[in-house]
Amino acid sequence: MGTRTISIVENILDANDRIAQTNRELFDSTKTFAINFMASPGAGKTSVILRTVQYLKDRYRMAGVDGDVATTIDADRMAATGIPAVQINTGGTCHLDAVMLSGALPKLNLDETDLLIIENVGNLICPASFKLGSRLDVLIASVPEGDDKPYKYPKMYRGVQAMLLNKVDLLPYFDFDMDYFRKGVEVLNPGLSFFPVSAKTGEGLDAYIEWLTEQADSFLK
Ligand code: MG
Ligand code: ZN
Repeated sequence: MGTRTISIVENILDANDRIAQTNRELFDSTKTFAINFMASPGAGKTSVILRTVQYLKDRYRMAGVDGDVATTIDADRMAATGIPAVQINTGGTCHLDAVMLSGALPKLNLDETDLLIIENVGNLICPASFKLGSRLDVLIASVPEGDDKPYKYPKMYRGVQAMLLNKVDLLPYFDFDMDYFRKGVEVLNPGLSFFPVSAKTGEGLDAYIEWLTEQADSFLK
């Protein structure tokens, strides 16, 4: 008999995937379109999310879950838009996992929610490994982070259905090679929906919102 070795990391991820599947089933049975936004710190994740809520809150019943290592600042900002928001304090952990999310969901009325916005913890490494059960995983990158990010964090770029490149209003001030960046993204995730935007000026947001609306409508119909 051969020896079979299973790493602890593998076991943890398997367990996470099972809970993620349970979350997914809950979202399906309550007709809730859940979107998991991931980004590095400072990419403007909260600003993009607030813009998204502004655009869509009259069209859909929205709610938010916000993961943060310690503070409730982002959840407070989400709640200030008038949608129900729940904070997950990860207690220092640098990502959300499916168990943390499943613990937060009973605090929301998913039967009365069409769109659930999940703001993951700012980090480009582990959120890529921990599925949550969301329908869409979206990456937000930004111009000041540099054009080499797809090359440095391939797993994150591979695992998403769409990405936004935020802060394009800063392109004139940074040495950011758009072709090099796009080439990196395309190799890792061919045909990925890509939206250059500025949450600050509003540039590019219409195309992103139109795409998101199509995705949500086809799920909710
Ligand atoms: Mg619902
Ligand atoms: Zn982590």
